[in-house]
Amino acid sequence: MKFNTKTIHGGLENVDPAYGSVMPPIYQTTTYKQSTPGGHKGFEYSRSGNPTRAALENALASIENGKFGLAFGSGLAAIDAVLKLFKPGDEIVSTNDLYGGSYRLFTRIFENMGIKFHFVPMGDTSGIEEHINENTKMIWVETPTNPMMNIIDIESVSKIAKKHNILLAVDNTFATAYLQQPLEMGADIVMHSATKYLGGHSDVVMGSLVVKDKALAEKLYFIQNASGAICGPMDSFLVLRGLKTLHVRMQRHCENGAAVANFLKSHPRVDKVYWPGFEDHPNHEIAKKQMNGFGGMISFTTAEGTLESAVKVVENLKVFTLAESLGGVESLAGHPASMTHASIPKEERAKTGVVDSLIRLSVGIEDEEDLMDDLKQALG
Ligand SMILES: *Cc1c(COP(=O)(O)O)cnc(C)c1O
Repeated sequence: MKFNTKTIHGGLENVDPAYGSVMPPIYQTTTYKQSTPGGHKGFEYSRSGNPTRAALENALASIENGKFGLAFGSGLAAIDAVLKLFKPGDEIVSTNDLYGGSYRLFTRIFENMGIKFHFVPMGDTSGIEEHINENTKMIWVETPTNPMMNIIDIESVSKIAKKHNILLAVDNTFATAYLQQPLEMGADIVMHSATKYLGGHSDVVMGSLVVKDKALAEKLYFIQNASGAICGPMDSFLVLRGLKTLHVRMQRHCENGAAVANFLKSHPRVDKVYWPGFEDHPNHEIAKKQMNGFGGMISFTTAEGTLESAVKVVENLKVFTLAESLGGVESLAGHPASMTHASIPKEERAKTGVVDSLIRLSVGIEDEEDLMDDLKQALG
């Protein structure tokens, strides 16, 4: 099955043996009748498993070219489950330019539990190996990075992980399986905030993991059930519905993203524009190699370079909504330094380029001229 068919049918054979409904029914139930103790039809209790969630988990595994999918109550709950694979003394090497919530989870929760993190720039992968020692258990990669749109060569990092016999996990939230398939490039775990492009309609918070290896899937399933950060059946249904248009939405996000990025680049009130589709983007060649398009996420700084100038622009936008989050059909604008990345200390932020005048756009699927007109008036 090709990708554009998988988003609609992948993992969804015989979802309703009772009536043949085309969409998986929403099994809004906590428990399942047993004919004799232990005699059930595959589901016992909805934390351990629910048919609607199972349908989504199978669909997610299919579109990521994995074998096992796991859905959680949020993206961070999915990351939390991955980190529970480890024990005190273990070390993790992570991308330094990272989603703020991931950074907070790593440094404020798991560092207290004795796991050590090394935050390393990975645009050039040659600097990774010096941070690996006998305690290192995993490399955590986010690409494109948030909000600086750096691109990390997944295949090259995967070679390093394999050489040291450690796991490679990739946060694929920004790209989605439409643009990039980390498991095909040697990653062991692909993680999503399904809240973003997978759900795609800004109406559900969810996270997911997909893996190929059965033993790893069993460990993660144990954590999912034992820690219990699952998502509900209604939310599972919503993300299943979102997935069915993922390829069509992503295509338009990419088209509009390219139009907006080029518009910003030529605007006199704009200083830098960060978007991997530009030929002068430092990792453009890697983006071309590992992605099927450049996506709709763009960051830029104002020419004035001040906090006030950036705040003014985002306040003046009308079609773009000033809001956290990304990946929905509607265009959103954010101010990372005071919103998504406020939990990262200012000095750390500055190191990665998240300056006060930086604005992040999640370009939606509206008419591209309306989006550019809106930016024009807000910048002027
Ligand atoms: C939003 C996001 C997360 C966290 O996901 P939630 O669903 O908000 O918990 C993790 N990584 C990236 C790249 C994100 O954008």
